[in-house]
Amino acid sequence: MKTFVDPDLCLGCGICETVAPEVFQLGPDAIAHVLLDEIPANLQAATREAMDQCPEQAISIEE
Ligand code: SF4
Repeated sequence: MKTFVDPDLCLGCGICETVAPEVFQLGPDAIAHVLLDEIPANLQAATREAMDQCPEQAISIEE
């Protein structure tokens, strides 16, 4: 699994970082960045949860 943040949609609210801090991190640009190229099995549920909770639908997942 891979996950991506659309920087044009991200508002920097930080929800994704709270839900899945191993996967998403807010940068100094106040946009969430993905920390991992491949999302390991143990973080996939949290990644999906972050996508579901993102208020801007800025997170996408590629299986
Ligand atoms: Fe950006 Fe969505 Fe993460 Fe908020 S939850 S920081 S809008 S990607």
